[in-house]
Amino acid sequence: MRPFLRPRLLIPVVALTAAAAGIGTAAAKPADPTSPDDPPVDGCRIEFADPSDSADERRARAACEAARARFTELFGEPAPAARVVLRPRIGYRVATQGRLAVAFWPTTKVLEEQFGGGDAATARVEDQWRNVLPHEITHALLAAHFFGDEREPRRAGYGTPFPDWFDEGAAIWAESGDNREVRLEDFRNLPEEWKDLRGILAMPHPAVGNAAAFAARDGGPIPRDRALWAFYPQSFAVVSFVYEAGGQAAVRELARRLVEDPADLEALAGLPGLPETMDEVVAAWDAWRAASPTSRTAPG
Ligand SMILES: [Zn+2]
Repeated sequence: MRPFLRPRLLIPVVALTAAAAGIGTAAAKPADPTSPDDPPVDGCRIEFADPSDSADERRARAACEAARARFTELFGEPAPAARVVLRPRIGYRVATQGRLAVAFWPTTKVLEEQFGGGDAATARVEDQWRNVLPHEITHALLAAHFFGDEREPRRAGYGTPFPDWFDEGAAIWAESGDNREVRLEDFRNLPEEWKDLRGILAMPHPAVGNAAAFAARDGGPIPRDRALWAFYPQSFAVVSFVYEAGGQAAVRELARRLVEDPADLEALAGLPGLPETMDEVVAAWDAWRAASPTSRTAPG
C-alpha cells in the first residue's frame, strides 16, 4: 500500500504545550499530569469520552505501545510515557506536557466520515491507526524525551529543535515494517541529485511555510509537492544508514550531538560505526545506498 502523506504539525513545542492544556479538556477531561493527585502515567494512557470507543481504545493502545517500543529499539533508552486522547473531531495534534508525550486523535467513526466508504477508505482508516498514529506519537516522544525538561523552549523550525530530517526519520521508524519498506523503495527511486547526504542534512522541512501541508493535518487535501514527498524517504534513509552502521549507540550519540547543536552539519562524523571525517561518511553513504538498502534492520 502506498503511504499517505503525513504532514506533521508546524507548531513549536512551546505552543503545543498550551494546546495540550486547552484542547484536552474538550475531549475526555484528561487530568493534569502535573497535579499531585494524578497518579504517574506509566507507559500508555488512553483517554476516550465515549464507552462505545472501546475498540478504538485498543487501537490507540496498540499504536502507542508500538511507538514506545520502536523508540526504545532506535535509541536503546526507555521511551517517555504517553497519553492518547481520542476525540470526535477531524484532525490531530501532538504535544508535550513536560516529559509526557500527548496525542489528540480522531475516533474511527470520524475517520470513516472523513474518508468515505469503500475499500480504499477502509484501508486508509487502517493506515491512520497502524502507521500515522505511531508516527505522530513518536514526534511527541522525541520532544518529551529530549527537550521536555528545558525550562525555556527553544525556537524551533518545524517540531522539536532537532534538525527536521532527524525528527522525521525517527518518527518513520515507528511505522509498520511494510510502510518502512515502501519509504526505502521510494528513496531508491528518487533522482540521484536528491540523494546527496550533505543536501539532506541541511534541508529544512519542505512543509515549513506550506499552508496546504498544514491544512492536511486538519483533513484538507494532501498537497502534491514533490519535495515534500521526497523529504520523508530521504529522512528515513539517513536514520536507517546511521542505525545500520552503529546501532543504538550511534543513534543515541547522534541525538546527543544534535540536542547540543541542531545546526551541526558534521554530526555524523565519528559516530560509532562511521568514519571520522564527513568526506569519508559521504563515501560510506554512497556505498550504502548503492547496495540497495532495505528495511532489513527494521523488522516488524
Ligand atoms: Zn512526521
